[in-house]
Amino acid sequence: METSTSRTVRTASRLDGIAPTIFTRMSALAVSTGSVNLGQGFPDADGPAEVREAAVEALRTGANQYAPGIGLPALRQAVAAHQHRHYGIELDPDTEVVVTTGVTEGVAAAVLGLVEPGDEVVVVEPFYDSYPAMLQMAGAVRRPVALRAPDFRLDVAELEAAVGDGTRAILLNSPHNPTGTVLTRTELEAIATLARRHDVLVIADEVYEHLVFDHHEHVPISTLPGMAERTLTLSSVGKSWSLTGWKVGWATGPAPLVRAVLDAKQWLTFTSGAPLQPAVAVALDSHDHWPKALAADLASRRDLLVEGLAAVGLPARPAEGTYFELTDVAPLGWDDADTFCAALPERAGVVAIPLPIFYDRPDAPGGGRTLVRWTFSKDRPVIEEGLERLARADLTA
Ligand code: GLN
Repeated sequence: METSTSRTVRTASRLDGIAPTIFTRMSALAVSTGSVNLGQGFPDADGPAEVREAAVEALRTGANQYAPGIGLPALRQAVAAHQHRHYGIELDPDTEVVVTTGVTEGVAAAVLGLVEPGDEVVVVEPFYDSYPAMLQMAGAVRRPVALRAPDFRLDVAELEAAVGDGTRAILLNSPHNPTGTVLTRTELEAIATLARRHDVLVIADEVYEHLVFDHHEHVPISTLPGMAERTLTLSSVGKSWSLTGWKVGWATGPAPLVRAVLDAKQWLTFTSGAPLQPAVAVALDSHDHWPKALAADLASRRDLLVEGLAAVGLPARPAEGTYFELTDVAPLGWDDADTFCAALPERAGVVAIPLPIFYDRPDAPGGGRTLVRWTFSKDRPVIEEGLERLARADLTA
């Protein structure tokens, strides 16, 4: 018989089957086992000192009460200027930009503000863990479209089959976490063609926009013909300026879409952290080249990681962007990445992220059952230490 206590503590069914975020779990495991954390994507080194000083200054000089819900004017202007400088996108900072508490809140507010219960949302699989959680909480139906191992390109035929009359939105992420794929202009054009044909909204998470390597180029999908009017673009200061804990992001696009984000956001967080907003404006306005230098440095740390992983029997395709490399542990005899990652702290003193949780269909051909994600966002000595530990360990099943 159910007791009144069990009813009191019962979790709402909208959370059914949603596990605690893997990143927090694996970072806690790294701390409790003294492991090198090559799991959760955050850098060891903080972003520009002047930007951090601007936040200190804002705290000291009184930017400590609520910012406007839509965001501080200086930051909205800085976001609009950033979009124009980098991509030639014209935005009205008063109606086409809203500040969010990171892209995670941007996704939540976009889904809550724009997607009806029962609407289908096409998501690129493997998907960042907040997407399925948020879609479920909003009562949306997700339709996965694969980036299949080992080359992680978009399956356009599958996309064509997934987008139809029931589709409300395509939730896109490029540069893509966790695969490191940067969608090409051709891939984006295929998505855009379908979005236009079926009158579908695109929610584009471009949080790794500046962290692209080699000859790869990030193309905002909103810059393709006929896409500006149907694309809501999300980004943040966290990844590109190494300030992941600040949780300040933005959504940009047509006024009605931005309005919908604000309409939902005001009931989630009301407004985002006031003293951080002027400092983020300083990052965008005065440290425009910082992400480019970071990307160059990240590319060299990526190379270090790729070389070290290959040396322990885990070859990886060099990431085109983001913080992440993927490897397949099947050649070492493992039939499940979850088991591998659970054993890794004890085997090697290293933590990495198992991929199956990012899939609806981990066992489909090219799925993620035996894939593991490693981050090169850490300092070089940390990556080196992780690799040395892996080299000393027995990694076979
Ligand atoms: N985006 C980071 C990653 O993919 C983690 C952010 C989080 O923990 N929610 O590792």
